Amino acid sequence: MLKNNEIDEILITEEEIREKVFELGKKITRDYQDKDLVFIGVLRGAIIFMADLARAISIPMIFDFMAISSYGAATESSGVVRILKDLDETIAGKDVLVVEDIVDTGLTLDYLLRILKSRKPASLKVCTFLNKSARRKVKVKVDYLGFDIPNKFVVGYGLDYAGKFRNVPFVFTLNPEIYKGELK
Ligand code: 5GP
Repeated sequence: MLKNNEIDEILITEEEIREKVFELGKKITRDYQDKDLVFIGVLRGAIIFMADLARAISIPMIFDFMAISSYGAATESSGVVRILKDLDETIAGKDVLVVEDIVDTGLTLDYLLRILKSRKPASLKVCTFLNKSARRKVKVKVDYLGFDIPNKFVVGYGLDYAGKFRNVPFVFTLNPEIYKGELK
């Protein structure tokens, strides 16, 4: 799955992820007792986190998904989001929890939250696996957080580089040779 020379540094181990997901699951279970919980996963990066987190939550819930793409250069989020796949269900009157892989500048999430808010959910909260607060451009409220990470490009546990590394069960930075295309 992974060649040893592809890893630069492991930032978050499998064990640390397991503990954090368990802890978040307990909190969400407690906070959403007797609520009409809808889990909205943002494709594709959030699916690994979402699947693990959902199993750490012991109240009924519905899953739904949105796929979005950012306009502009690939590495710099423009904040203008195109919806590639919209929700299947209506969320009016429901307690919506948006599950994200990472909040970086916050532009994508800010835009997404505006769209969801206009659909009148009973409540709208955010759970993100990773947060890079150093890069924030717009203020977005994160209600549940996995880990704050430094300003580094990370992959693994749902996050990709050129479509790869999503299925690696920990979070790491890549050997810089990979970006130069020198590692095959
Ligand atoms: P924002 O609009 O908050 O700047 O962008 C968030 C999106 O940028 C994430 O959903 C993710 O797709 C991408 N992104 C930001 N930082 C990273 C990172 O360190 N690694 C990966 N793989 N994607 C990132």
